[in-house]
Amino acid sequence: MDAAAAPQKPRKKRPPPKSARVERIERVTPGLMRITFGGPELLAFGPPKPAGHIKLFFPPDGMVWPSADPEAARPPSRTYTPRRYDAARGLLEVEFVLHGEGLASNWATNARIGDLMTIGGPGGGYTAPADADSFVIVADDSAMPAAGMVLESLPAGASVTVICEVTDKLEEHPLSPAVPCQTQWLHRNPANAVPCALLEKAVRDLGPQPAGTCWWIACESGAMRRIRDHVFAYPDIDRSRVHTRGYWKSGSSNHPDHDYGLD
Ligand SMILES: Cc1cc2nc3c(=O)[nH]c(=O)nc-3n(C[C@H](O)[C@H](O)[C@H](O)COP(=O)(O)OP(=O)(O)OC[C@H]3O[C@@H](n4cnc5c(N)ncnc54)[C@H](O)[C@@H]3O)c2cc1C
Repeated sequence: MDAAAAPQKPRKKRPPPKSARVERIERVTPGLMRITFGGPELLAFGPPKPAGHIKLFFPPDGMVWPSADPEAARPPSRTYTPRRYDAARGLLEVEFVLHGEGLASNWATNARIGDLMTIGGPGGGYTAPADADSFVIVADDSAMPAAGMVLESLPAGASVTVICEVTDKLEEHPLSPAVPCQTQWLHRNPANAVPCALLEKAVRDLGPQPAGTCWWIACESGAMRRIRDHVFAYPDIDRSRVHTRGYWKSGSSNHPDHDYGLD
């Protein structure tokens, strides 16, 4: 069938992107910037689901965005986690890992109060199975904001094992101020260490978990696949309870937001 005769896929209907401005900037750790966006359009933003995602748009100088034309080209964007949303005040917190050169990382490093941002979404999100009471959360620093949302969504009294990989001791910070948890911290220094190799080892060391345990695993894409393959090899593992997501890919810019490791 030629392209002209191919059936048209229905265009995905997205909520219109919202204009916002930077209201607050906090340096949480040397490598993590928490930026709060606000503005009247954010009153109609959410609510985001746990570990859902948003798009931040970075129009080049001179590009008019958002555009009234729905067919207009979109500017470069990056995927982030809507870590905290205050619907009453239209405030949205986003936590940026300052990983070095990158459109979003550079923007966050240089952000100033009053800077403008256009935000798309929210979309996606994780819902724990209703009967689950045992969880393992595995995250690198880019996935810690989402892991914090997941933690806050779990049933009270659930057994939760949390393993996080960060650069070094200075990057340790609670996943959630509201829900305390014991976290196994892994430090990837020296800085050129293979990303998330320590997460892989920690999961291997942890070994199989009781039947019914839910796994939430999000980190660098290649490492996520290696961890997934390891966990999938456990006897009697229920794959539907293993949620995996690649948040970025070593050596690759603007990793897609739908890398659920299904290949
Ligand atoms: C659903 C989802 C939610 C996410 N939420 C967050 C979040 O809340 N906070 C957050 O900080 N990130 C989050 N990320 C990851 C973020 O989208 C990527 O890190 C993104 O690549 C950053 O864009 P950039 O413009 O700074 O770098 P890019 O231009 O995309 O990449 C430039 C270079 O930096 C490398 N790189 C990218 N990210 C990292 C990293 N984290 N560590 C080391 N090297 C990196 C790339 O491999 C590339 O070589 C999320 C990703 C997804 C899919």
